[in-house]
Amino acid sequence: MKGNFNYETELQPVALLDLKRQYESIKDEIYEALKRVCDSGAFVLGPEVKALEQSIAAYSQTEYAVACASGSDALLLSLMAADIGPGDEVIIPSFTFFATASAVTRLGARPIFADVDARTFNLCPIDVERKITSRTKAIIPVHLFGQMADMHRFNVLAQKYNFAVIEDAAQSIGAELDGRRAGSWGDMGAFSFYPTKNLGGAGDGGMITSRNAAFTNKLKLLHVHGMEPRYYHKVIGINSRLDSLQAAIINVKLKYLDAWTTMRIQNAARYNEFFIDAGLDNTVVLPYCESSRRHVWNQYTIRVPDNLRDTLRQSLSERKIGSEIYYPLGLHEQECFRYLGYRTESLPETAAASREVLALPIFAELTENEQHCVVRSIKMFFESQAIHKLYPAAAVAMQKREAA
Ligand SMILES: *Cc1c(COP(=O)(O)O)cnc(C)c1O
Repeated sequence: MKGNFNYETELQPVALLDLKRQYESIKDEIYEALKRVCDSGAFVLGPEVKALEQSIAAYSQTEYAVACASGSDALLLSLMAADIGPGDEVIIPSFTFFATASAVTRLGARPIFADVDARTFNLCPIDVERKITSRTKAIIPVHLFGQMADMHRFNVLAQKYNFAVIEDAAQSIGAELDGRRAGSWGDMGAFSFYPTKNLGGAGDGGMITSRNAAFTNKLKLLHVHGMEPRYYHKVIGINSRLDSLQAAIINVKLKYLDAWTTMRIQNAARYNEFFIDAGLDNTVVLPYCESSRRHVWNQYTIRVPDNLRDTLRQSLSERKIGSEIYYPLGLHEQECFRYLGYRTESLPETAAASREVLALPIFAELTENEQHCVVRSIKMFFESQAIHKLYPAAAVAMQKREAA
C-alpha cells in the first residue's frame, strides 16, 4: 500500500473507538437475532450458546469450547480446571490487564510477574524460565494487543517442567503464529467478548477453548456450580454462564470478523506509511509485528520516548483525537500487589513500556482521512516541541496563533 500523507488535511475529531459504525452496518441482523431469542424464551445458555461454542472452537482450530460470563471468568475457570490453589505459583506478564493476575490470587495462588519483550510487549520466555520453581503450576502467556506470544518456547518449557499453559487470548481472537490460531496452543485459551475486543457482544461474555476433553468436561461442570445432574454438586464451581442474547449477537458478528480483521490490518499498514511519510518513524517507535504472526490489531500501540508521552496525549486530547494508555502501570507496581514485594525496576521493560506506550484509534471502520488527522496532529505536536527547544519566543507566538 502506498501511503500518501496529506499535510493539508482539515483536522477533525477522531474517536478512539466508534462502535456505532459497526452496529449500523449489521443492525437488522442483530434485531432479528434478538427477536429470535426473545421469542424462544431461552435466555441462559441454550442453542445460541451451543452454536457459538462450536463456531469459536472451529474458528480457533480447537476441539472444544465452553462459554462463560466474561474473559476474567474464562481465566479463573481455566485455572480452576488446572487445580491451581494455595501454595501454587503462576507465572504471568506484569504488562497486561488486571484480570490475568486477579484470577490467580482469587484461588489463593501467587502470581509471579515476568518481564516482556521490548518490541512486542509479550511475555519474555527467558525471564519466564528464570522464574520457574518447584511450585510453578501454570503460566499465562498473554497475546497482547492482537499479536501472539512465543508459544513454541512456552510449550517446550511446559513439557520440560510439567506445568499447565493457559493462553490469555482476550485481545487476540483469530491471531496466528505459524498459521495456527490463538487458543489452540496451550492447555486452554481464554477469550473475552467485552465490547472493545475484536469480537464484542453488547455486554460481558467469555469463552474457554481447549483440545483436551478432560479439561473441557471439568470446565463444563465448574461454570454451572459443579452441578450434574440438577441439584447434585460434584465439585465446588461458580456461576458463570453466557446469556443467549449475547451469544445470538456474537453469532451474527462472527461472520464478519475476518472482514473486520482485514480492515484493522489495512489500517495498521496505512498508519505505518503515514508515519514514515511524515518523517515520524524515528521520533516515535512504530508497533513491531513479527513475520511469523497474523497480528489482529486490537490495539495499534506506539512508543513515545523522552518523557513526551503524556504531553503528546494531552495535546491530542485538546485536538479531540482519542488515545489510551494500556497500561500506565505494570501490575507489579499496583497498590493491591505491593505485598508481593516487587520493585519498579525489577521488571525494567515493563516499567519502560508503561511510561512510553500510547494506543491510537485502529477500529475497522476508521477512515483514511481520520488516520491523516491522527498522524498530522502528532506531527504538529513534535514540530511545536522542536520549536520550543530552538526558538522559545517563536513557540509562544505559535501557541498564541493556534489558540486564536
Ligand atoms: C479484556 C481482557 C481480559 C478480561 O476480559 P473481560 O471480558 O473484560 O473480563 C483479560 N485479559 C486481557 C488481556 C484482556 O484484555
